[in-house]
Amino acid sequence: MLAALKSTGAARVLDLGCGEGKLLQALLREKQFTEIAGLDVSHRALEIARDRLHYDRLPPAQKERLRLLHGSLIYRDQRLAGFDAAAVVEVIEHLDAARLAAFERVLFACAQPKHIVITTPNREYNVKWETLPAGKFRHCDHRFEWTRAEFHSWANGVAARFGYNVRFLPVGPEDPAVGSPTQMGVFERIK
Ligand code: SAH
Repeated sequence: MLAALKSTGAARVLDLGCGEGKLLQALLREKQFTEIAGLDVSHRALEIARDRLHYDRLPPAQKERLRLLHGSLIYRDQRLAGFDAAAVVEVIEHLDAARLAAFERVLFACAQPKHIVITTPNREYNVKWETLPAGKFRHCDHRFEWTRAEFHSWANGVAARFGYNVRFLPVGPEDPAVGSPTQMGVFERIK
């Protein structure tokens, strides 16, 4: 994820559904990123992120680079405008299918960063985990887990509707039959 974001050349980045701040921590270590904002709907997750990043003890120059925002990805949010790139890591599968369209508008039509990197589980890979009963999701809060074909079809549709190109990358070890555990779509705004 970090490599994908770096390769976009972005300076101002969003981590949407940042959770406990693992990616934010990695982003802070990279000088390339001059402005970093993490957003999550969970107050608790943001508190943990704050602790993990030692936010209160950061030197002023570091503190200025980072913002933690409380908000939901299904409501338009002006604070998300003006960024070069956005990461949405393992978040879309937590949204009700009916809310996905709202999320698409918030990110691709309103926030409109030049690059958007989205990851989600690859359901086909679940057969590789012997401890996961057949037909079960990896996490009880997942509303869906998509096959590669399902993710590609959604991502291609979104790209076409909102004026982006998209390419797909594997995340983790790739199995010839079922692909990689996680799938990634890298979107680039056309205009
Ligand atoms: N990106 C993090 C967390 C993934 S877990 C990581 O990779 O570690 C999914 C996260 O999405 C949770 O922190 C959850 O609070 C957040 N989330 C779920 N629905 C959301 C919404 N509507 N708006 C913003 N964040 C949301």
